[in-house]
Amino acid sequence: MRTISPRWILLLALLLAPPVVAAERTGVLAPPDVKKEQDAIMKTLTDGNKKHMHHVVRKDGLAHIMVVSCADSRVPPETVFNLKPGEIFVNRAFGTIVDKSILASLEYGAEHLGCKVLVVLGHTNCSALKEAIEEHDHPRAIWRSINQQDLDSRLQPSINAILDKSLLNEARLDAVVRSNVLNTMKTIREQSLVLWNLEQDDMIKVVGGIYHLDTGKVEWIKQ
Ligand SMILES: [Zn+2]
Repeated sequence: MRTISPRWILLLALLLAPPVVAAERTGVLAPPDVKKEQDAIMKTLTDGNKKHMHHVVRKDGLAHIMVVSCADSRVPPETVFNLKPGEIFVNRAFGTIVDKSILASLEYGAEHLGCKVLVVLGHTNCSALKEAIEEHDHPRAIWRSINQQDLDSRLQPSINAILDKSLLNEARLDAVVRSNVLNTMKTIREQSLVLWNLEQDDMIKVVGGIYHLDTGKVEWIKQ
């Protein structure tokens, strides 16, 4: 009878081994204040949810509007557009970007929820874009995880599109915010055949907007 070589046994063991899901603890424990703050936050969430349950909106029908926006807590699309739960299908990611998962979500919104308008909503003073500008000007000056690098690679085209070197910091950031909304609209069209086809058939309207943090106004931009 043939024997299995130790090399094959090792390979098999590696293939069957559970993936390493987390690095070991660093040994530096969070100070007690952090635990207190976490407990207080959980209480805020639970109490807030109890209040919400008293006037929950039970809406039939589907949202016909969807939005891609930044994760920034100052820009909740429901509040910005004065809409209620059930009226808007929201997809948020830091820096108003789309990746494959968000594109799949938007395709679901268009195909199954019947969304007729897709808003790509950027906002002024976006921290994600400030970080990306910093990375552009001083590459790898700060350590970034693989995930942060992935986000950064999605934001860099928006920065490269602004060639005017005479712009001062704030004006440059405003220009990059604008360029990022346009870039995300372009990525949606280029990377989702489903949404591209629906737009070509006028079944969905893709629009860009910039939320101004100082006034609360959404400025519509064309492309
Ligand atoms: Zn932002």
